[in-house]
Amino acid sequence: MSTDPYREWDAAYLLGALSPAERREFEEHLATCPACAEAIAELAGVPGTLRGLDAETARALDEHPVPDTLLPRMLRVAARRRRRVIGAVVGAVAAAAAVVALVVPLVLGGGVERRELTLEPVVPGPLSAEVTLVSHDWGTRLDTHCNYEIRPERPGYAPDDDAVAYAMWITGRDGSSEEVATWTAAPGTSATPSATTRLSPSEIAVVDIRAVDSGDVLLRARP
Ligand SMILES: [Zn+2]
Repeated sequence: MSTDPYREWDAAYLLGALSPAERREFEEHLATCPACAEAIAELAGVPGTLRGLDAETARALDEHPVPDTLLPRMLRVAARRRRRVIGAVVGAVAAAAAVVALVVPLVLGGGVERRELTLEPVVPGPLSAEVTLVSHDWGTRLDTHCNYEIRPERPGYAPDDDAVAYAMWITGRDGSSEEVATWTAAPGTSATPSATTRLSPSEIAVVDIRAVDSGDVLLRARP
């Protein structure tokens, strides 16, 4: 029979009753243990298995991550299966918000790809950016967080004087190249432009942020 030492950790995990170290340990185990991963999916009321989740379902879960019935079901199961968890029930309502954060990345791990990129400077400058690639069945959404470093104060200085137009360019592994977003940023501001491309994350070879005026590549990442 099963000798899996993690077999009974699922409810405690979903209730937020594990210590941070235990949680990490369990998440590492989940990546390698389909049985535990499916137990989590089942407890969370998630239709389908983690492995078999299609992109459409995953997107729906992304938007409505946790069913209303989740908490009562989890509490029932926890009471039945793990006495020690009862003590955590008082904190469970507060933990419900954390459950959303815990469950969604796991579920998305099955069907939707999410990849975080930090763009590296190609030329020295005040700009930094992170991009999250989110796969969809139609292509990829790129959620960008772009920071323009704050300049020292000086008399009469107006940041808008230095507002610069930027563009995001995607180069595909097929050699295609396209501009997918433009925006402006002034010193001390941040921008969160979103872009889309028909390419899947694995088809994207290069993500660039360029200055619109000069066309110079300022930041670059290779997913
Ligand atoms: Zn397991």
